[in-house]
Amino acid sequence: MFDTLFLDRDGVINEKLDDKYVTCIKEFVFIEGVLESFRAINKYFKRVIIITNQQGIGKKIMTIKQLEDIHNYMLSEIENSGGKIHKIYFCPDLESKENNCRKPGTKMFERALEDFPKIDLKKSFMIGDSESDIIAGKKMGIKSVKVNLKFNLKLALKKIINIP
Ligand SMILES: [Mg+2]
Repeated sequence: MFDTLFLDRDGVINEKLDDKYVTCIKEFVFIEGVLESFRAINKYFKRVIIITNQQGIGKKIMTIKQLEDIHNYMLSEIENSGGKIHKIYFCPDLESKENNCRKPGTKMFERALEDFPKIDLKKSFMIGDSESDIIAGKKMGIKSVKVNLKFNLKLALKKIINIP
């Protein structure tokens, strides 16, 4: 069994919007195949953790409450599909903020390790659609896989981790 699957959110779980932040449930659209993938994910991984930059909060485009509403929706849809996410870490900071918690920095991963000290990074994966996801994952020594519109989460899991 694998240990922890770290997932970026936008562009991995839900469709990324062009030059726009997802600010409400209506704008949160699951990428095809993601909900079905979760059943398999939870069979093969002990835990699933989301690590997401949400600069829209720092920019005052949305509130933490709005983000939490979106995340509650996401979690309930995933649970209704038989999947589970154990924890979500988001960074509200602006990129310009000194010592911010954003990827490609590793602060959110470090918080996850404090909360879940049993995480075995060697048996874990990071999946994201941005270079910053991959850089952050590699800094932590986690095998990191980049996805895109064609090579999506479902295919990445199937091919790389050999989940059917
Ligand atoms: Mg992304």
